[in-house]
Amino acid sequence: MFKTNIYKDASDLKIKEIFDFADKYKVFLKNSKIERQAVKETIKLVKENGFKDIDEVKDIKAGDKLYKVNKNKSIILFIVGSKPITDGLRILGAHIDSPRLDLKAQPLYEENGFSLLDTHYYGGIKKYQWVTTPLSIIGVIYKKDGSMLEVSIGEDLDDPIFGISDLLVHLSSNQLTKEGSKVIEGEDLDVMFSSRTGVLKNAKEYILDFLKEKYGIIEEDFISAELEVVPAIRPRDYGIDRSMIAGYGHDDKVCAYPSVEAIINTNNPEYTSCVILTDKEEIGSVGATGAHSQFFENSVAELLIKSNDNNYYSLKKTLENSKMLSCDVTGAIDPIYSSASDKKNAAFFNYGISFEKYTGARGKSQANDSNAEYVAYIRKLMEDNRIHYQFAELGKVDKGGGGTIAYILAKYNMDVIDAGVPVLNMHAPMEIIAKADLYEAYLAYKAFLNS
Ligand code: MN
Ligand code: MN
Repeated sequence: MFKTNIYKDASDLKIKEIFDFADKYKVFLKNSKIERQAVKETIKLVKENGFKDIDEVKDIKAGDKLYKVNKNKSIILFIVGSKPITDGLRILGAHIDSPRLDLKAQPLYEENGFSLLDTHYYGGIKKYQWVTTPLSIIGVIYKKDGSMLEVSIGEDLDDPIFGISDLLVHLSSNQLTKEGSKVIEGEDLDVMFSSRTGVLKNAKEYILDFLKEKYGIIEEDFISAELEVVPAIRPRDYGIDRSMIAGYGHDDKVCAYPSVEAIINTNNPEYTSCVILTDKEEIGSVGATGAHSQFFENSVAELLIKSNDNNYYSLKKTLENSKMLSCDVTGAIDPIYSSASDKKNAAFFNYGISFEKYTGARGKSQANDSNAEYVAYIRKLMEDNRIHYQFAELGKVDKGGGGTIAYILAKYNMDVIDAGVPVLNMHAPMEIIAKADLYEAYLAYKAFLNS
């Protein structure tokens, strides 16, 4: 099983399963460009499969399927195991935020007859990739009276789209001498919003009148809005053999979705199953909806208390006895840039789920660095379930690096290892994954919840 191409000995039935699963994922990804949408889609999926809001449940017993939502931006799922909860959870943790451009609090301005929206980028991006590409605006606007307006413009094929200008090549002799990080500057990532000005009005007055008439919003309403500018592209099959999927936000919906499917397809597990879909990973897992928040711990406490276990030490014991897969993507080896990776320790497309003992940068800074004992446990689990898997690390030493939520949950003294789908073009408006790796991640996550 170790490091073999999935298609090498795959039956027709297996290939059909891979492609069918990929089709379901494409629908999830299309509807989950931002974290609020991913939470909504997840609630829809789990409710259809018998999960109940934990707030509406008083007494919890083995076999119960539960979910809890945090501020509409993160969610946790449980299936109560047949063993005591204090024996530990089997946790899959993925994130549902992706790099993007957020509108500033006061975004609107006019220039030369256009109205534009000023943005602040979120997460690590190559800024030059975001100009002259079709963009959507998705999110919410809360008015002073507490009423909410949901916004999604650019996703329907009939919708207008948005975009950010780049200088024409004819006048770019100065720009093209700049280094990559300066070719497009953060303050220049401003979204073109309108061009039609009334005869006697300026561009800003015109667009404010337009917004008031069409949406009932005033300029100050942008202050209490969360509007995210994201690529308007839809998930599409990629490559002549349709073996890959191109889309925005694979990092990390490509691990979030198989985690949700894994728990949906788990029944009466021995150990309590748990899926965490968290927000804010791309900016350091901070804030109330990020992995550093107390939300996870509070939810486990609620689970225990509603199971008639009020002992404070039970919470500590549950967390310490837990095992976790930190379900996040890793960089796949890119044929054009293969010199950035150490081939012996790189993740390849179509070789299955990729485990990383450690992530981090330089001398493993910020890494979780899983224990050898736990790595051996994972190897056996994968082999026993005939799952294609590979062990890798992100690029050559000292080329850069990256982190996940692994170290945050590891502080409870639980076993954690990174386990996800390899991605090409990570953090670009169009990321690529291989369908076979996605399916193998699903099988691995399901085997883990049932271990
Ligand atoms: Mn990620
Ligand atoms: Mn990322």
